[in-house]
Amino acid sequence: MIVSMKKGASREELDRVKQIIGKHKLKVHSMRGKERIVIGVVGVGSGASHCQQALEATEGVESVVRISAPYKFVSLETRKQPTRIAVGPAVIGGNGFTLMAGPCSVESREQLNAVAAVVAACGGKVLRGGAFKPRTSPYEFQGLGEKGLELLAEAGEKHKLATVTEVMDPRQVSLVAGYVDLVQVGARNMQNFDLLKELGGCKKPVLLKRGMSATVKEWLMSAEYLFAHGNRKVALCERGIRSFDTVTRNVFDVASAPVLRTLTHLPVILDPSHAAGRRDIVPALCFAAAAVGSDGLIVEVHPKPDEAMSDGAQSLTLQQFRAMAKKLEKFVSVMV
Ligand code: PEP
Ligand code: MN
Repeated sequence: MIVSMKKGASREELDRVKQIIGKHKLKVHSMRGKERIVIGVVGVGSGASHCQQALEATEGVESVVRISAPYKFVSLETRKQPTRIAVGPAVIGGNGFTLMAGPCSVESREQLNAVAAVVAACGGKVLRGGAFKPRTSPYEFQGLGEKGLELLAEAGEKHKLATVTEVMDPRQVSLVAGYVDLVQVGARNMQNFDLLKELGGCKKPVLLKRGMSATVKEWLMSAEYLFAHGNRKVALCERGIRSFDTVTRNVFDVASAPVLRTLTHLPVILDPSHAAGRRDIVPALCFAAAAVGSDGLIVEVHPKPDEAMSDGAQSLTLQQFRAMAKKLEKFVSVMV
């Protein structure tokens, strides 16, 4: 952290600044320039943020700039090797590329099994399916709840696929984690800090989706919450961010994958379905996700998208998914 004092700051103001830094158990390295004094503040830990706030409110201080990332555990500064996470029989991160797919919502045993069979046959490793759905309208299908979790676990076992589903409420973490291998935090809950804290104590890995208007830094801070509360099995998932243009549901920020490589050791999964909102361009975005060097994909697939209870417009048909997965292999083989 660098503290610039105002031109002509008094001796007392400088002493007060040093006192605040000392109180937070951080070290002072001051440099006296021609016009002003600049102080380098060195040290790690949770005291830095609090110290920054106190300094910003102190007389004589012009500016306070943080140099090292406010996230520690998830930063590349803390760990250089990529993190690999075991998800049931699958692995996310490291050298491989993990294909995850399934319907937006679990609707029935038949629907889920039809999709699971194709996902497994196409080299998919993780079956997705929502049981508790975050819907914009309270009148829309809210998911099958625990019945959906049962069907997902059953289909996963039958087709030897790991499973992922969303949890929306801290009170449901233990229920959901009891059924699936990977617990998803949806875009709308990326900054539900009580949910993140609860998941900190969960034994299952977490797929943390990016909030629809979240910066990369805010997203990493949410991952830091999971780590700080005890869960170090975290994968990030880019699912598109809001923009002015409605031609796609969101803007697919493929740049986030290589950007995150420069900031964090966590695996990065891309979700072209929620980014696009329309199935015609989903295959192209899947290939882009592989080409940009991500650790995997999560894609929505439905046997009859026009009858889907949610996100039908962006769901690939089984046939489209098969064709996409076949072509995807070529992109993956170049990258891994
Ligand atoms: C979903 O995975 O179906 C979902 C609701 O995703 P997101 O949180 O990215 O909108
Ligand atoms: Mn969906």
